[in-house]
Amino acid sequence: MHVVVIGAGLGGLSAAAHLRGAGHEVTLVEREPIPGGRAGVIRSDGFVLDNGPTVLTMPDLLENTFQAVGADMADFVTIKPVDPMYRACYTDGSELLVRHGRDAMTEEVRGFAGPKEAEAFGRFSGWLEQLYTHEKIRCNRSSSKNDATFLPSLPNPPSRTSASPSRQGFTRSSGESRLVSMNERISWV
Ligand SMILES: Cc1cc2nc3c(=O)[nH]c(=O)nc-3n(C[C@H](O)[C@H](O)[C@H](O)COP(=O)(O)OP(=O)(O)OC[C@H]3O[C@@H](n4cnc5c(N)ncnc54)[C@H](O)[C@@H]3O)c2cc1C
Repeated sequence: MHVVVIGAGLGGLSAAAHLRGAGHEVTLVEREPIPGGRAGVIRSDGFVLDNGPTVLTMPDLLENTFQAVGADMADFVTIKPVDPMYRACYTDGSELLVRHGRDAMTEEVRGFAGPKEAEAFGRFSGWLEQLYTHEKIRCNRSSSKNDATFLPSLPNPPSRTSASPSRQGFTRSSGESRLVSMNERISWV
């Protein structure tokens, strides 16, 4: 079959690679001069700026995409851990480092927002770990069996009664800082 994939962002590139690996003829159409989409690069006035993803949570998915066309990601891309991953700067001059690893990040949150928020961050991280495991199982099963009926139950998000549904992530108000859990903003389909 001849398939036309519109858009050479990570999604389109991945779809095109998997379709090609499955033996289809593929044409990939992109409106911009370079591929990448939101994971692109801006070059301006001598500066080079990555304009999209910062945190790579599932490198296996990228590896799978290369493998789909018989390539080895290591021949094309070198992934190096960076710590801190980035620095959030607030208008009052305070800064939050987004650290590599749960322990380091928990300590960062503790110093930034206090012990209660550090403890909440620990719960949130625990839930994310369950979610990550769930997704890995789902990916492995869907690629090997093409069957979603064996999915384990999704983990329940950690409860956080004081969080406001309209706010997300780290927020600062009235000179105070607090971490708001993001579970209200995540829905399952
Ligand atoms: C600031 C920022 C930070 C992010 N941080 C992270 C992160 O830390 N971790 C993470 O996993 N994700 C992150 N993301 C999200 C991640 O970058 C995107 O989810 C991912 O790149 C989206 O890929 P996509 O292929 O679905 O869409 P896109 O990248 O939007 O690709 C769509 C492509 O289609 C093209 N296109 C659209 N319409 C047409 C048309 N009619 N004809 C031809 N071409 C067309 C567009 O030009 C584009 O190249 C971040 C995104 C941003 C913007």
